[in-house]
Amino acid sequence: MKVVLQNLTKAFPNRNKKIKEDFIAVNDFTFTVPDGKLIGLLGPSGCGKSTTLYMISGLQKPTAGKIYFGDDDVTELSTENRGIGLVFQNYALYPHMTVKQNILFPLQNLKGADKLSKQEMLERATEVAKLVQIEELMDRKPSEMSGGQQQRVAIARALVKMPRVLLLDEPLSNLDARLRLQTREEIRRIQRETGITTIFVTHDQEEAMSISDMIVVMKQGVIQQTGKPQNVYDDPTNLFVAKFLGTPPINVFEGKVSGGKLYLGDDCVLDVGGVDDKDVWVGIRPEGFIVSNNGPLVCNLSSVEVMGRDSSIVSTHSASANPVIRSIVDSDLSVSSSDKTVRYALKPHKVFIFNKETEERIYFTNPALTNKTKTGE
Ligand code: ATP
Repeated sequence: MKVVLQNLTKAFPNRNKKIKEDFIAVNDFTFTVPDGKLIGLLGPSGCGKSTTLYMISGLQKPTAGKIYFGDDDVTELSTENRGIGLVFQNYALYPHMTVKQNILFPLQNLKGADKLSKQEMLERATEVAKLVQIEELMDRKPSEMSGGQQQRVAIARALVKMPRVLLLDEPLSNLDARLRLQTREEIRRIQRETGITTIFVTHDQEEAMSISDMIVVMKQGVIQQTGKPQNVYDDPTNLFVAKFLGTPPINVFEGKVSGGKLYLGDDCVLDVGGVDDKDVWVGIRPEGFIVSNNGPLVCNLSSVEVMGRDSSIVSTHSASANPVIRSIVDSDLSVSSSDKTVRYALKPHKVFIFNKETEERIYFTNPALTNKTKTGE
């Protein structure tokens, strides 16, 4: 079931009574979730992710815009009639009920043509319990289970009504690091097995990147970029997206373009054809540095952390916008901690430049960039 979100906007009365204008939590959000895909809705706290999800679920009514499930306009439909499964951060299980009773609960409320016999309900509950691998825990109470197990019950309860669309709001936030990893892989598996179109809200870029078919990056209610996680990482449209994706984060510098060359301070670091002379922001991914004895970027070495196959080199540079620069390089290219400086050449496809005012990407040409021929702003 594809989900079409057309010019969705949500305005709330401003919490500051002195300000007359509404607060726009979601602004002209247009996106189509393809049938059977898992989409990660991603952005910092307060960017409007949950509000978007609540509009899709029917818990919030859009101020403007339309929502379609397939060809059905569901904008005015109540939550109960949308055919959705919802999973929240705080599993929201009934504490006095067993797992089995929790999963059966949504089925017991079905009415009319949807009403099921006791036998059918049990069969469905057993089927989803198997899918989320909790069939052995059916007689336990929520308090007798781990957070990860409780979240699986919540997912089973959302799936038992065979929803057209599954909506997950920060479902892993209450789990510890190990369980988060395990549960996110489980969610991916369950989504693949069921083929249910799924929208997953998170502020954790790593989580979204690791399980989503596509991500939607939001800032202040506005979509910044959509696409396959790797494509968005490799080709960010603005400085915000470049900074939001990636661990360790991208290194940001104040730079200058002059005569088709990019300068960081006095270091002339890269050919950037097709760009007018101007001050720019420069983003360099940690894996974009090559340790090189006569590399053009000269940094003051702070420390070297060997992490097995790779080393993380911490250094500083006068043009860096961050206190330190973090590069990830091959451990073989060892740099001695006692060195005063480290010199780098740069991989052109890991270097992005952005307009200093608008922070929008400026594309450049470089002899080493065979596929990137976009030029100008
Ligand atoms: P988080 O990750 O912290 O949950 P989010 O991206 O999901 O954040 P939303 O919960 O969608 O953000 O909120 C978006 C903005 O709308 C926030 O600034 C929030 O304060 C505001 N907001 C949400 N609900 C209301 C409301 N009922 N009235 C007024 N403002 C609201």
